[in-house]
Amino acid sequence: MIKIAKLISGSKISAQIKDEVKAQIEQMKKENDTVPGLAVILVGENPASRVYVANKEKGCAQVGINSETVRMEDTVSTDDILAEIDKLNNRDDIHGILVQLPLPQQVDTGRVLMAISPDKDVDGFHPVNMGKLVAQQDCLVPATPSGIIEMLKRENINLKGANATMVGHSEIVGKPCTLLLLNEWATVTVCHIETKDLKMHTKDADIIIVATGVPYLIKEDMVKEGAVIIDVGINRITKDKASPDLLEWRKEDFEKKGATLIGDVDFQRVEPKASHISPVPGGVGPMTIAMLLKNTLKAAKMAVEKK
Ligand code: NAD
Repeated sequence: MIKIAKLISGSKISAQIKDEVKAQIEQMKKENDTVPGLAVILVGENPASRVYVANKEKGCAQVGINSETVRMEDTVSTDDILAEIDKLNNRDDIHGILVQLPLPQQVDTGRVLMAISPDKDVDGFHPVNMGKLVAQQDCLVPATPSGIIEMLKRENINLKGANATMVGHSEIVGKPCTLLLLNEWATVTVCHIETKDLKMHTKDADIIIVATGVPYLIKEDMVKEGAVIIDVGINRITKDKASPDLLEWRKEDFEKKGATLIGDVDFQRVEPKASHISPVPGGVGPMTIAMLLKNTLKAAKMAVEKK
């Protein structure tokens, strides 16, 4: 009999979180006469960035957050963006600010992210928030890793004492996710491009979280029976990159649209071995937006408490 893993549906869990955020915003409106506000700075015409920002605007509308997008030409200077951030930092109706990345080459991304007030840093990328995360202090945590932990908790996956392997060590996913797992008392191994023998670190793990951007990096022989797998990767497969093994699980979608999204895990083959697995799409992606909305609500609550 073929075993089938339980799918961890980010779409379902994120819908629950959005309902909770919406209810709390309604309460905040009544009790504090405050509506959370999110400002997104979008520079240039990058098609992927435009889609991400449109999804964030849609998410805000669904839960009752006021959102506005500041659109800037891709010839902007660092100082132009800093001037916009300064205005937004000083507005009482804006509780969350995020700058859609990547920024054009001439812009100093580090300076831009540093300029956002840590209290309005809903992406959680400011070193003050990163530092607080290390120190286990209350703070705004990056949305994708907090979404991953939320998924695991809502699926009742035991984290305490679990052996977790984090594949990928970026500032936006791998490193903060590692800290969150440690804060939940998991034993964490972190792997990256220079890791000598990736399989050695994944094959005995109770939980594997993969965020590399390498299609199907994780194969069935790298995973133990009953492992929990969270696939963060988003890889857009177009005609030039298509191959039968990459497309097996998303063939129908590819044929319909001429392109499709796949993750960093060889889903078809890994799924029968796993106890739980998150799909791509419909896994971590929708959680990221939901947690961003939750962070905006949190920033608004912090502003109300400060008054
Ligand atoms: P990144 O490029 O900043 O980092 C990639 C990481 O993977 C690095 O630590 C690198 O060392 C590691 N890596 C690369 N190749 C490897 C290999 N062969 N073996 C082991 N490690 C390897 O990427 P990121 O920003 O963390 O994003 C990773 C993936 O997650 C991308 O596909 C991205 O699109 C996706 N992502 C998804 C969401 C979401 O909401 N679902 C959010 C952020 C990122």
